[in-house]
Amino acid sequence: MNKILIEDMSWTEFSEVMAVNDLVIIPVGSIEEHGYHNPLGTDYFIAKKAAYDIGKLSNAPVAPIMPIGNASNLMGFPGTISIDPEVLRDVLLQICEGFIHHGAKRFLFINGHGGNTSTIKMVSNILFDKYQVFSTQTEWWITLKQMSEFPCNDHGGKYETSMMLAVDDTIVDMSVAQTVLRKNLTDKIIYDDFGLKFNGVALPPSFSLHTVTAVGNYGAKAEEASIELGERMYEKYIEYCVELAEEIRKIPLMK
Ligand SMILES: [Zn+2]
Repeated sequence: MNKILIEDMSWTEFSEVMAVNDLVIIPVGSIEEHGYHNPLGTDYFIAKKAAYDIGKLSNAPVAPIMPIGNASNLMGFPGTISIDPEVLRDVLLQICEGFIHHGAKRFLFINGHGGNTSTIKMVSNILFDKYQVFSTQTEWWITLKQMSEFPCNDHGGKYETSMMLAVDDTIVDMSVAQTVLRKNLTDKIIYDDFGLKFNGVALPPSFSLHTVTAVGNYGAKAEEASIELGERMYEKYIEYCVELAEEIRKIPLMK
């Protein structure tokens, strides 16, 4: 396969690819604040480049990125845009239905933003219910948290900024990177690197991030981010996803 991005292919080239392949990779991004130093498109840029590299190394076609996700909890920061979860669900669903119509039976979502996770999960459930196709998602910060030495416990902090630097360091301004201590939601509902907790028990979050940080990034110190760290993280994530894509191709399907 010479071309990786579906939008670069002619219809005949796409048809040839799908004659011998039934997996499509779909990047999903977000346009939202990531502190003073990172671009609004941080989640978009990381997902887009990762999907391209995964597609290239696993010989799977890559769909156009869904650029905007659900980021309503970040609307307190100018430039953030958000679409409702049910709209995102329906758009992703219809994109997948288009690919199913043309032979896709497996989907790997490369999700760049935590606010999209539950919606993509619902898309996967609906796709299975209606078409018995296989789909799943990976998120670089969850993947790395679980299988590497990188804790990825931040938003626009050390780890996410490093990933962004590895993807494109020309649009990160490290001279204004700063870290502020995140406030708790109330005296007893605390907000740590793993989300909201009351008396040590996790609470599903749904609140404005502006109430806990004025700068926008939180977690591990943004000032400690580096290209070198980002490249190590990026490489590990891509390696994992390429292996996953190969394994997804072996999954027996119902029809
Ligand atoms: Zn992000």
